[in-house]
Amino acid sequence: TSIKGSHPVPWTPEGDAAFVECKEELRKATILAYPDTTLPWAIFTDASEYAIGAVLQQRRGQHWEPLAFFSQKLQPALRKHCPYDRELHAIYAALRKFRYIFEARHITIFTDHKPLLHAFSQDPDRATPWQFHRLDFISQFTTDIQHIAGKDNIVADALSRIEEISMAVSSNELAQAQAEDEELQQRIQREQHDSLNLRPVNIPGCNKQIYCDVSTDIIRPYVPTALRKKIFDALHSISHPGARASAKLLTQRYVWPSINRDCRLWARTCLACQRNKVSRHVLSPIQNFPSRTRRFEHIHVDIIGPYIPSKGYRYCLTIIDRFTRFPEAFPIDSIDAECVARTLFAGWICRYGVPLQITTDQGTQFKSQLFSALARLLGSKPYKYHHFPSAVEWNGGTSSPSLEGCHSLPRKQLMGRHATHRSPWNSCRLEGRSWRNSCRSRLWRANSFTR
Ligand SMILES: [Zn+2]
Repeated sequence: TSIKGSHPVPWTPEGDAAFVECKEELRKATILAYPDTTLPWAIFTDASEYAIGAVLQQRRGQHWEPLAFFSQKLQPALRKHCPYDRELHAIYAALRKFRYIFEARHITIFTDHKPLLHAFSQDPDRATPWQFHRLDFISQFTTDIQHIAGKDNIVADALSRIEEISMAVSSNELAQAQAEDEELQQRIQREQHDSLNLRPVNIPGCNKQIYCDVSTDIIRPYVPTALRKKIFDALHSISHPGARASAKLLTQRYVWPSINRDCRLWARTCLACQRNKVSRHVLSPIQNFPSRTRRFEHIHVDIIGPYIPSKGYRYCLTIIDRFTRFPEAFPIDSIDAECVARTLFAGWICRYGVPLQITTDQGTQFKSQLFSALARLLGSKPYKYHHFPSAVEWNGGTSSPSLEGCHSLPRKQLMGRHATHRSPWNSCRLEGRSWRNSCRSRLWRANSFTR
C-alpha cells in the first residue's frame, strides 16, 4: 500500500507485530550500558598479531555489561614484538583510552595471557625499558591483573581479530578454490620463483593450508582466478575508492599475478563509480606560439618581487622581446594594472613601438585591467592577449623553453652576486647602492654581450 498522500494508513495486526519486532531489534543493537559507580569495573583485553582489542565492562548480577569497545591496528614495529609485549600494550592502550571513565576507582584487568599475571611481582630490572614504561603507567590505575580463559574472552578476542571478520571470503572457501585452480597448481609444480614466493601456511580456524606469498613482511594469501572479482567487489564496494586506492587496498591483503592491473581495470569499469564520480578532467592543451619573424612584435611581460624597498620601489616589471630575446626591466612601486600600463607605455612602447602581441601569466582580472589601461593610453581598441592559467604552464608551454631562462636573466642580473651571498640584497648593501640604481647598468652590461 502507498503511504504517500493524505489518505490514512491501514494499521493491521501484522504491522503491530513488525513494529514491536523492530523496536526489539533496535534495543538489542544498542546494549551499551551507562556507568554505575556501585558496580565492579573490569577491562578485558586481547592482542593478536596485528591488532589489539578491549572492552570496558561492569558486572551486574551474573552478567557483564559492556560500556565501551576499543580496537586498534598495531603499527608494523609493534607487530614484531613478542606476544607478552603485545598483550601488555593492549592493556596499556585500553587504559589510556578508557581512563576518563573509571579514573580513581578500582578496576580489574582480565587477560588470557598468563605470564602477565606476574608482571608486577617480577624484578623490575628484568623488564625492558619499553615494558617498564607501560607497567609504570598501568600501575597508576591498577595492579589487579587476572586470568580469563581465551574461549571466555570473546569480545576482546573478536575485536583484536577484526581484520579477519572483514575478510572478503572465508578461509575454507579460499582453500577450496586454491585446490581447484589450475594456474596455482602449475605454479606450485613448476616451483616458479618470480616476484611471488608461495608457501603453504596454516590459518587459524581453517583445517586446510592456504598458499600465501611470503616474500614481503605481510603474508598475503594467493587468490585463485575464480575468487578475484568477488574479493575485489567486496573490498571496493566499502567506499568505492579510485583506481589507485582500490589497487592499494587489495594488494595490502591479497596477491595474484597482475593484481594491480586487474584492480585498476575493475575500478575504472565499476558502474557505481562511473555514475557518480568525475574521473576525467579536461585540461586545456599546452599552446604553442607562432614564431615571429620581426623584432618587437611579441613581448612577454612579467612582474618580479616584492623585494626590500629601494627608494620606494618594491617590484620590477620585466619585459622580453620574443624574437631577439632583448630584456628590459623597470622598477615599479605597485603592481596595479594602471602603474604597469604606464611603465610599459613609457619604457617600451614609446621607444620600440607597439607590439602586436603581449603575453603575461598574471591573473585574468589583472590582464583585463592592464589592456584597458593600455588602450586608454594609446587611444585604441583593446589588445589581443593570451590567457595562461599558471606560470608553470607559461614556462613549460612555450615553443621555446629557453625563454624562461631569458626572463630570469634580468632577475639574476639585478640580484648581482647572488651565488656568493645568501640574500641577493646583501651585495647591494655592501656596495652601498640600491638595486633600483644598479638595475639599468646591469641590464646595459648584459645587453652589451653577444650571446
Ligand atoms: Zn566503484
